[in-house]
Amino acid sequence: MVAELISVGTELLLGNIVNTNTRYLAEKCAALGLSMYHQVTVGDNRDRLADTVRTALQRADIVILTGGLGPTEDDLTKEVCSEVMGFSLVEDPHTRKRIEKYFENNIYKEIPENNWKQAIVPDGAIVLDNDNGTAPGLILEKDGKRAILLPGPPGELYPLFEKKVVPYLQKIQPEVILSQMVKICGYGESQVEDKLLDLIDGQTNPTIATYAKTGEVHLRITARAKEPEEAKKLLKPVVKEIKNRFAEAVYTTKEEESLEEAVVRLLVKYDLTAATAESCTGGLLAGRIVNVPGASEVFKEGFITYSNKAKRKRLDVSKSTLKKYGAVSEQTAKEMAAGGVFAADADVCVSVTGIAGPDGGTEEKPVGLVYMACYLKDKVSVECWHFKGNREKIREQAVVKALDLLRRSILQNYQKEKSKDKG
Ligand code: ATP
Repeated sequence: MVAELISVGTELLLGNIVNTNTRYLAEKCAALGLSMYHQVTVGDNRDRLADTVRTALQRADIVILTGGLGPTEDDLTKEVCSEVMGFSLVEDPHTRKRIEKYFENNIYKEIPENNWKQAIVPDGAIVLDNDNGTAPGLILEKDGKRAILLPGPPGELYPLFEKKVVPYLQKIQPEVILSQMVKICGYGESQVEDKLLDLIDGQTNPTIATYAKTGEVHLRITARAKEPEEAKKLLKPVVKEIKNRFAEAVYTTKEEESLEEAVVRLLVKYDLTAATAESCTGGLLAGRIVNVPGASEVFKEGFITYSNKAKRKRLDVSKSTLKKYGAVSEQTAKEMAAGGVFAADADVCVSVTGIAGPDGGTEEKPVGLVYMACYLKDKVSVECWHFKGNREKIREQAVVKALDLLRRSILQNYQKEKSKDKG
């Protein structure tokens, strides 16, 4: 089946807001096995919107529209789609009640007159209750074509899509589509593709799609079949083969698990407490860890030691190390990690020290040079990276690599222990 996306809103055309809905929906549609050939953005203009909807309905089976479902005069999506597809508009008592209830829980108890407009729906449409706003989602079905109208605010769109639209799309698909995510850290996108060339070449079912993220590559393996069991059987050997090829570089196969969540999961699993010692990342690393619910169980302290004095005072980095090797060096990174373990009384500490730029680089130590170390159980592993990009990008990449260093250090330590036990 072919899907097409229409984003409605003049503010999108003017660049006032970034069209994150399209990115989100495109990824979701791909995961559901829908083909997509066009994505269109159109302003809040009745004629142009009608033209856009007509064209989309000619070339796609499913047209998903976001935005323009609000209560104001320039919100036209519902009216225009109804007109183009030949639906009359009626009041939906259920939605009216839901809006009343929504305002009961709202600090503004008075219901603005405009909001009742949102209880008017195309006669015969499937109404999708929006738990986070007043405008319901709507599905219009006619002559084998479908228009799915969804609210623009991402906080309303995402849960509505997950809870109501995904099951609907799964039901109307002639085949079952199952996908599995494999998230990899430590390889670039082209390296990943190189290693999977034989699997990617000539792929039909399952398919492998690669998505490059900062410091990570995500693979989505998608299989189609008549029955879920059949699709699972198709997925299983491919996922297993990918895991074999990338070994511990695979940090998760769960769609929703982030790198920091995988790190916290490992810390909890091995009953370890952690600390961070940061220079150029200035707290970003600790921030990523603390973002994970439940991090308080394992995360003890984050040190932001930007100056040499702070590195000495907080982490006991020796004066002679700083003098002889400099703050951006393997030796300083090691001492920062060891100092962090002792100062926080933690089991493990990961440190980062580097030159984020744009100034401060030299021929010997250029911008983007970052050392990181991980101290765990009296052992310290150290890594040196040369990141490209601006200050923000360099710091972002350093955080990902530091999280991954922490993850791999734990795995290496405990997998070794496990194999010793077995021996
Ligand atoms: P509301 O009921 O809040 O008026 P709506 O369905 O009418 O919602 P719009 O008025 O078009 O949606 O947009 C409301 C807000 O939703 C925008 O100001 C913007 O913050 C967000 N939004 C809309 N479309 C997009 C998009 N494509 N990507 C990201 N955010 C969007």
